[in-house]
Amino acid sequence: MSLDDLPPLREVIARHGLMAKKSLGQNFLLDLNITARIARAAGIGPGDLVYEVGPGPGGLTRALLAAGASVVAVERDERCLEALGEIAAAYPAGRLTVVPGDAMAIDERAILGGKPAKIVANLPYNVGTALLIRWLSVEPWPPWWQSLTLMFQKEVADRLTARPRDDDYSRLTILAQWRALARHHFDLSPKAFVPPPKVTSTVVGLTPLAAPTHACRRETLEKVTAAAFGQRRKMLRQSLKGLQVPADVLLEQAGITPTARAEELDVAAFARLARALDAGA
Ligand code: SAM
Repeated sequence: MSLDDLPPLREVIARHGLMAKKSLGQNFLLDLNITARIARAAGIGPGDLVYEVGPGPGGLTRALLAAGASVVAVERDERCLEALGEIAAAYPAGRLTVVPGDAMAIDERAILGGKPAKIVANLPYNVGTALLIRWLSVEPWPPWWQSLTLMFQKEVADRLTARPRDDDYSRLTILAQWRALARHHFDLSPKAFVPPPKVTSTVVGLTPLAAPTHACRRETLEKVTAAAFGQRRKMLRQSLKGLQVPADVLLEQAGITPTARAEELDVAAFARLARALDAGA
């Protein structure tokens, strides 16, 4: 099956009246070279099962199918379903399954038949970070997803790949890098989308670690990072004050100087803080 057997995306959008809706974070990719590049970045090949959130008119979906994957896609906008049905019809039965619904509420394991899958998505900006947190919070670990290849606003992507002391180093950095390897694939200018968003976008890849390199409880790590980055400019002896164990005790047990700030600590140090909190609480 070649991509050329399907009509151009602009025609699909016009025929089905798919005017982009801001409320659904719709910025469509119509350039099939770009969607093919995302499929390549995700390492998609024959036999892969891909879970796509928000296929919209189906540009990225087409690239994933052309790379040989089977795709299960969840789309909230019912206006897109007919256009997606045309793509499904152009491929053998079972290659594209479209599930109408909200990706934040869907039972992913059920719609994927319990099989492992690669997640690839040009995410709607309004729910992108929430979905990422959902995928990073999967229990047990390693998760059912084999990799994440996601389009975000550059600012969110930079947080995922940041290093200590970078401006973008944040709670999300720690929660992602604790469990996964994050990689910057490439940036895309607003011009690549219809309609163009206000900011540059970035495709990021995340591969789950078999187990976190620095063991601790996820809930406790979430707690200490919330406290530390909640007041990121303050010294930790101040920002960690609200926790169940006195900040000085926590910091001493974790071997961290009390005058350090959140942005200076690496993932290993945050994991030590989490373990110290669990030990002392
Ligand atoms: N994948 C298409 C592309 O690259 O051109 C569209 C990407 S567009 C940035 C985001 C898509 O996610 C839209 O089709 C939108 O309707 C859909 N969407 C928004 N919120 C959603 C949600 N909660 N669950 C599922 N899909 C959602």
